[in-house]
Amino acid sequence: MSLKQIQSVSRRYNVFTSIRVPRKDEVGLAKLRASIKDNFATIRETTTCGSRILNDYISPFNSTVVRLLEQSGTTTIVGKTNMDEFGMGNSTLNSFYGPTLNPLYVQEEDIVSEYKEKKFWTPKAKADSKVINKSVLYEKPQDSEGYDENSYLKPVMKQNYTIDKQMRIIGGSSGGAAASVALDLVDFAIGSDTGGSIRLPACYTSTFGFKPSYGRISRWGLISYAQSLDTVGIISKKLPVIDKVFRMLDRYDSADPTSLAENKRVREEGNWYPGGRKVRIGVPVEFRLGNMRVEIKQELVDLLTRLKRSKLVEIYPVSVPSIKYSLPTYYTLVTSEASSNLSRFDGIRYGYRADEFSETEPEFTVTRSKGFGEEVKRRITLGTFSLSSYGFDSHFMKATKLRSILINEFNSIFIDKHMLLPETSGNNKKGVDFIICPTSVDKPPLISDYYSTSPVESYLNDVMTIPPSLAGLPTMNVPCGKSTGFQLIGQFGWDYKVMKFSEVLA
Ligand code: GLN
Repeated sequence: MSLKQIQSVSRRYNVFTSIRVPRKDEVGLAKLRASIKDNFATIRETTTCGSRILNDYISPFNSTVVRLLEQSGTTTIVGKTNMDEFGMGNSTLNSFYGPTLNPLYVQEEDIVSEYKEKKFWTPKAKADSKVINKSVLYEKPQDSEGYDENSYLKPVMKQNYTIDKQMRIIGGSSGGAAASVALDLVDFAIGSDTGGSIRLPACYTSTFGFKPSYGRISRWGLISYAQSLDTVGIISKKLPVIDKVFRMLDRYDSADPTSLAENKRVREEGNWYPGGRKVRIGVPVEFRLGNMRVEIKQELVDLLTRLKRSKLVEIYPVSVPSIKYSLPTYYTLVTSEASSNLSRFDGIRYGYRADEFSETEPEFTVTRSKGFGEEVKRRITLGTFSLSSYGFDSHFMKATKLRSILINEFNSIFIDKHMLLPETSGNNKKGVDFIICPTSVDKPPLISDYYSTSPVESYLNDVMTIPPSLAGLPTMNVPCGKSTGFQLIGQFGWDYKVMKFSEVLA
């Protein structure tokens, strides 16, 4: 695909926050094309995290993931993808660069009219649409201090555009990453997943989304949202591509203090079939939620029936009682970590700086109130409370304890050994090999409905993806029909086993 075509498709769906202009040595080689979520540091273009506060920020170093991909000589990076600001959200509507649209819900005739009129987005019925006051055109950046301005194109917000009321969200926060895969702009996308950010957009775009065990892929150069949960992962339409990319990135990195030691990484060539017994799959009873869409329940039953018929698999109900506390536990922990991590953005050391100053307020106040979006400010406020002397014991410590209980409960139901916990703590001989549950309780909501839901209601969309994140477990979204997907969850450290068994589910 030519640079022009990539720009044109990206403009329609708002996929990229920057597009690389390929160097001569990068053209025409038979390599895998990759996109990188815009919260991974790269030296060649901006790293914005979807935020105004980093709009012009160029990192002086490459993240480990980008370095490994570039050094491998087998991948070409096409661009950096749009995201919810600092990873906070599940819609990719919370970006300074405007929302990314879900390609599965764009009508072909809309694209044609858009193309003719050369506008970003032309809805069929203007009366039935919502105006968003941002639009994306890609241009060469003006400011070329210290880097080569010819090497990439950056979005310039120009005109208003409108969104058809029938459009559905793409999920998030790695929405641009999922769109780049769904639209075949790339073979795979690198994203980050703190509480579902890879799996939910993968589910909504019917692609595979893999969140490895926490610490398995280096976080060095991934700008932290909540460092005790942030995990690097991969989205693709093809499992063999995920397998290949994971093998490139699955290595210890001394630059990341949470990187898993080599001897904690199970590399047994994922023979998922244990021999001598059937594969045991657990379905958590706590995930039988009243608000789950009937179609999704039915698809889960169909999947389990198909597996059972294959005679290779046994299915068991399992119980992880603390799953019901996962949402409040997660949102207490991530807001606390985020409030601390984001304190570095003060307009003095990085990126955007407001030029208004007040006699009475600290210098960074205006910069931060203008530089951060609503959701980010909400979370900084919540997290600051949880870490204050009023909230520390009752909120932060309580959430930390609930998280430990959840980790132990998950551990006790797996047959495989947890690669970080002591041998005695789990290793249930009667335990299961995998857990299966839906990735989302519903299909993607309409963008117009989503805009009118309260923040707390929107957090409920993460109810299925958060529990394995809190426990750091390797989890794959396996697509099954339009915008439906199932999570295949394995024991901590057994990532290849999850990847291999995903082939059986797919
Ligand atoms: N939706 C969740 C949140 O807003 C998860 C996002 C993520 O995984 N980065 O925190």
